[in-house]
Amino acid sequence: MKIVLLGTSSAVPTLTRGLSSTALIREGDVFLFDCGEGTQLQLMRSSVKRSRIHSIFIGHLHGDHLYGIAGLLSTLHLDGREAPLNVFGPEGLRVFLNAAFRTSDFKFTFKLTVQEFPRGYRGRVLDENEFYVDELPLDHSIFCLGWRFQEKDKPGVFNLERAEELEIPRGPLYGKLQHGEAITLANGRSITPDMVLGPPRHGKSVVYCLDTQFTERSIQLADKCTALVHETTFGPDAVDMARERKHSTMEDAARVAHEAHAENLIATHFSSRYDGRQIAQICDQARGVFERITLGRDLLEIDI
Ligand SMILES: [Zn+2]
Ligand SMILES: [Zn+2]
Repeated sequence: MKIVLLGTSSAVPTLTRGLSSTALIREGDVFLFDCGEGTQLQLMRSSVKRSRIHSIFIGHLHGDHLYGIAGLLSTLHLDGREAPLNVFGPEGLRVFLNAAFRTSDFKFTFKLTVQEFPRGYRGRVLDENEFYVDELPLDHSIFCLGWRFQEKDKPGVFNLERAEELEIPRGPLYGKLQHGEAITLANGRSITPDMVLGPPRHGKSVVYCLDTQFTERSIQLADKCTALVHETTFGPDAVDMARERKHSTMEDAARVAHEAHAENLIATHFSSRYDGRQIAQICDQARGVFERITLGRDLLEIDI
């Protein structure tokens, strides 16, 4: 999988940082997390193909995460898109989109499904053959959802040599073992899948927590994830401001990554009060709490 940071600024764009949007690419499909103003331009500057957008996840309805979606959907319509598109987000998202598109008397070329989650909802929002997406409410100044994109585990690699040694006839019995079923051979010997399969291949996971102050729920959502994309709006000089506005400092995010045993933390959503040099300094300090921080910047691509 690959993560592409499309915008890494909080609240307002700067000349070098666009508003929040992050693309996750898996086997060519694009999953877009948030869609701040300017996202469609950033998509054009990146390697991400907008025609391959599978779903869009909007975590909360603050403008810096939302105002780009109407323009992007309009462009997908003008592209002549035919594939259906799912948009997931908190209650209120449909009202926003309806207002935008009714005002413009807009009719889509493709089927747009908007799925809203009320405050009490926690759990699975999408479940496909090879992956699923879960959500959990975070702790921000308005209702905000965090997302976990999780690849499902795959069975271990089939050991052909071992199967031949065990005299398992080629054919459907191989398939049964690969699907976790025990079999009995004509000679009466029973074979269990672990006798011919390597260890299961664990699926990778990406967790997206924007915007939120430090909360146990981020730790729960990010449990042992491959990559945690977490907001890091402020540095140690603005802890009070972070608490007041229900945002995180870089150190808060590092603590979440540490306590969740995440493999990597990707820092994004920086206040415009800091320039790149200051953000790098803030990041160096936070590495005392959690070492493996990738400092985000616009259009950075991260293989995971
Ligand atoms: Zn924000
Ligand atoms: Zn916000």
